[in-house]
Amino acid sequence: MSKLVKYIFVTGGVSSSLGKGIISASLAKLLQGRGFSVTIQKLDPYINVDPGTLNPYEHGECYVTEDGAETDLDLGHYERFSSSPTSQANNVTTGRIYQTVIEKERKGEYLGTTVQVIPHITDEIKHSVQILGKTGKYDFVITEIGGTVGDIESFPFIETVRQMKWELGHDCAVVHLTLVPYLKAAGELKTKPTQHSVKTMLEQGVQPDIIVCRTERHLNKGIKNKIAQFCNVSVDSVIESIDAETIYDVPLLMRDEQLDIALLNSTNTPIPAILDLTNWEQFVNRLKNPTEEVTIGLVGKYVELKDAYKSINESFLHGGSINECKVYVKDIQSESITDDNAEEILCSLDGILVAPGFGGRGIEGKISAIKYARENNVPFLGICLGMQCACIDFSRNVLDLKGAHTTEIDQKTPYPVIDLMEDQKKIKNMGGTMRLGAYNCKLDKESVSYEEYQEEFVSERHRHRYEFNNDYREKFEKAGMRLAGINPEEDLVEIIELKNHPWFIGVQFHPEYKSTVKHPHPLFVGFVKAAIDYKNKKELLSITA
Ligand code: GLN
Repeated sequence: MSKLVKYIFVTGGVSSSLGKGIISASLAKLLQGRGFSVTIQKLDPYINVDPGTLNPYEHGECYVTEDGAETDLDLGHYERFSSSPTSQANNVTTGRIYQTVIEKERKGEYLGTTVQVIPHITDEIKHSVQILGKTGKYDFVITEIGGTVGDIESFPFIETVRQMKWELGHDCAVVHLTLVPYLKAAGELKTKPTQHSVKTMLEQGVQPDIIVCRTERHLNKGIKNKIAQFCNVSVDSVIESIDAETIYDVPLLMRDEQLDIALLNSTNTPIPAILDLTNWEQFVNRLKNPTEEVTIGLVGKYVELKDAYKSINESFLHGGSINECKVYVKDIQSESITDDNAEEILCSLDGILVAPGFGGRGIEGKISAIKYARENNVPFLGICLGMQCACIDFSRNVLDLKGAHTTEIDQKTPYPVIDLMEDQKKIKNMGGTMRLGAYNCKLDKESVSYEEYQEEFVSERHRHRYEFNNDYREKFEKAGMRLAGINPEEDLVEIIELKNHPWFIGVQFHPEYKSTVKHPHPLFVGFVKAAIDYKNKKELLSITA
């Protein structure tokens, strides 16, 4: 028998960037801690079919799921917090909803009726939400609605919430996240923006069940009472969400505020006696009490953007916590690096990560950074374009193939060591057509990667069109570059490793998409460890010198 599913919507008011994704993920964590199975979904009100065609300036990192969906970066938080994999069904945009409705209309599926926002678009949204519930796998489906209530774009989504609340009664609840600002001049926290934002929801027919208040200062009883009174909720359903030192504190703060209990009460769900967050607490404890510290350079062209390399930054926290090590990630603009200044810019680092990316801007700087790491035994991890750049450096500077390049940047290169994959050559549409999602990789048992994974067969997520050119395999291996991981189905190079270097690994895939609090990614764990060893060795040498 399939489970009785409860549908929870998380909306936002007053301002964007209040952290709906983190609140949704924290709520999921608490419900999991009480033994429930949960999935989290994001509805995005923009017209793009998916964020895969958006550049990081627009939308931060594009997160890739197992089934190859290019999704909103909040799905990364969902997976990192809950360790439960998401899929295409977990991220739906207005563009995708309209695309489906228009395709149905063209096929004549609406039998001659006028196709309208209500009921056709709202029915399609409802279907996208309930499709997860109908799998029978979950007790709770948490659906975060992007944007802020009152936005023109989000109207059909809020209308869908209204309909579902009406249809499902206590099996559906709305958590509304708002801002309670502190006005310095008045010396007070202000509830008016929250009142207005709830009013906006009421105009659209939705009464929130729980109000989570983002705030810089603690809410006293009086403020909570006032919000409860003006917004028609019980005072236990007014939850403080104070600014936290790290996002990983939020589930613990929400536990202290009893967000899970408020939610279980409002959905008439019996409350299990035990809430087990032991592993989470251990993780946060290690994160906050490191015994070591290292500085790792993150070389990329979007470093000035906070969210462009989100999953990489989070993976360092996971890998750092396991090693009881504070990882300082130093952002380095790849355009600023040359062969001449590489030493000056990079010499203080304990490890270098060269980031994924597209296009030519900053690529020569990435290659110079890799050359420096290779020649100076600095631990190195190259991800996707970072791995491709490591192949270019090796070709130009070790194999002496002058002008070697990727055909993404130089189509006329005499040595196309990185080249477009065969099945990419005929592709015209850019959206959703890369090599995306999970592919297998067989590891060489002699390799450092195997040592890190402790497994011969792994599966990792991809997002690229270009590939290591197999014509160069022999040359690479002869000169000391181990092809440490191969995709067995298509015989593609997935991992390269320098043999005469303590820790130099390039991966065609994205390990950062699979690192979670529960399962820190083995390559990030190993990389941080290598950085600690490198730093200790450096310090020892400077003492004995
Ligand atoms: N631009 C490269 C490719 O498409 C690398 C992509 C990436 O780093 N994600 O193959």
